[in-house]
Amino acid sequence: MNTVVCVKQVPSTETKIRVNTATGFVDVTEFEWVVNPYDEYAMETALRLREKAGTGAITVIALGPERVKTALRTCLAMGADAAVQLTDPAFDGIDALAVGRLLAAAVKREPFDMVLCGKQAVDDDQAAVPPAIAHFLGIPHVSVVAEATADASARTVVAHREIEGATEVVNAPLPCLMTMQKGAYEPRYPTLKGMMAAKKKGIPVLGSAELGIDPSLLIRRLVYVEDRLPPGRKTGRVLEGTPEEVVPELVRLLHEEAKVL
Ligand SMILES: Cc1cc2nc3c(=O)[nH]c(=O)nc-3n(C[C@H](O)[C@H](O)[C@H](O)COP(=O)(O)OP(=O)(O)OC[C@H]3O[C@@H](n4cnc5c(N)ncnc54)[C@H](O)[C@@H]3O)c2cc1C
Repeated sequence: MNTVVCVKQVPSTETKIRVNTATGFVDVTEFEWVVNPYDEYAMETALRLREKAGTGAITVIALGPERVKTALRTCLAMGADAAVQLTDPAFDGIDALAVGRLLAAAVKREPFDMVLCGKQAVDDDQAAVPPAIAHFLGIPHVSVVAEATADASARTVVAHREIEGATEVVNAPLPCLMTMQKGAYEPRYPTLKGMMAAKKKGIPVLGSAELGIDPSLLIRRLVYVEDRLPPGRKTGRVLEGTPEEVVPELVRLLHEEAKVL
């Protein structure tokens, strides 16, 4: 059971978001970067499928700058066998379709029965890259899967999707692509031994030439215009005085200003 896991590095959800007023976009310079949480579920699924099958390789692929190697090393420490980074000046600011095209080209270089992704990246939230990968690979796509089992010899996968009030069970032929959500199991922590081994692993870096992709195909169809923070909330008002003084004033404000009484 050979699996490729596509991993996006995203800002930690505890990161304070600031918009750079000069550029009009989110300022990423002080971000703490982590593996997209749903991609950790994809990694855990890949590890469980390999454990069940008793054989197979797990390759992780991330598209992004030098820093994405940290995310790849986290996945190696969790138990992936190999990691590949995709980067090239031609990849700057590309849209989801182009990301999907490049990831599909990288997946094609690996032996694979299954491609696993997160159901969405928690920063850009488009949930668009995995269907694009499946499209370029010409394989079925099963979205938002909570749990999956595979039979490598019968070349099938059974996926459990949680839908409103029920579980939907889907059968798909291998190879296929699934996007994972928080499921029946928690992603394991990298072991110390895994972390030491991951530090030493070489990570090949591929650009458009190695992937055989003509950069003119990476044209943006969607163009980011700007990022806007939600409007700041008004600060509360504190009424000073004794309860006898403030309660009538509070009632007046609720009646005349807030108009809730
Ligand atoms: C500087 C900058 C400029 C941008 N400009 C544009 C623009 O003009 N137009 C536009 O449409 N978008 C733009 N983007 C957004 C960027 O292209 C998106 O990050 C990309 O489309 C992926 O979409 P998503 O993050 O919503 O991923 P989703 O589709 O939500 O991700 C789902 C899953 O796909 C996989 N995946 C996604 N991205 C990667 C990756 N990089 N490597 C490996 N696996 C991945 C992961 O498994 C992930 O869980 C820009 C981004 C940056 C940083």
